[in-house]
Amino acid sequence: VRLTVLGCAGTWPAPQSGCSSYLVEQDGFRLLLDVGNGAVGALQRVSDLLAVDAVLLSHLHADHCLDLVAYSYARRYHPEAPFPPIPVYGPAGTLDRLLRAFDHPPEDSLRSIYDVRTVTAGSHQIGPFAVQLAQMFHPVETYAVRLTAAGRSLTYSADTGVCPELVKLADGSDLLLCEATWPDNPTNPPGLHLSGREAGEHGRAADVAALMLTHLAPTTDPAVILAEAAGQYDGELSLAEQDRALTL
Ligand SMILES: [Zn+2]
Ligand SMILES: [Zn+2]
Repeated sequence: VRLTVLGCAGTWPAPQSGCSSYLVEQDGFRLLLDVGNGAVGALQRVSDLLAVDAVLLSHLHADHCLDLVAYSYARRYHPEAPFPPIPVYGPAGTLDRLLRAFDHPPEDSLRSIYDVRTVTAGSHQIGPFAVQLAQMFHPVETYAVRLTAAGRSLTYSADTGVCPELVKLADGSDLLLCEATWPDNPTNPPGLHLSGREAGEHGRAADVAALMLTHLAPTTDPAVILAEAAGQYDGELSLAEQDRALTL
């Protein structure tokens, strides 16, 4: 299972990174996990623009899905178009969410571009990936994702506040890609995001082999977040970086 970070800035883009998007590959199958601002540009640095087999959206906040609008232009107006629609798995309302980004929604309501399929918590199969989704604590319907293929497991927290369901979902994963938006502070609002300390606690409780921190707000000092997590988690710990790739 190969993971490439196409964007890892939390909430708004950073100078050196776009918003949340990850390319996960197995057996030549390419899954885009979230498609935040900047993802389409980053995708072209590591892959053929059109070689995406499926998309999975954790939730419908703009910083996780809006580059699907730009990507629809790429698939519609590319010189070699038309192409068959690609499956887009997302929470209820995904298609309407994308259509609302258009002043005049396309006549085909994007259906010739995206085959949108609603997902909820539980088990799914996407290409070679066995997919498990668990609902997180976040202001909108949000799913953390566990992808398993070839005996390897990657869990992605999506956006969440402290959430025992994340620990359960991530249990024993080879990698937990976990959000750590802000430094630890008693005034952080609950049910929104994790601090570095909380991300470390989730990684330790889930006994994951490696923990990669992501979705840091651009105003957050990465060294602070890393130190907070290191105080809780003593496995392999790292920060997500734009264009970083690794094989599980
Ligand atoms: Zn976010
Ligand atoms: Zn969010």
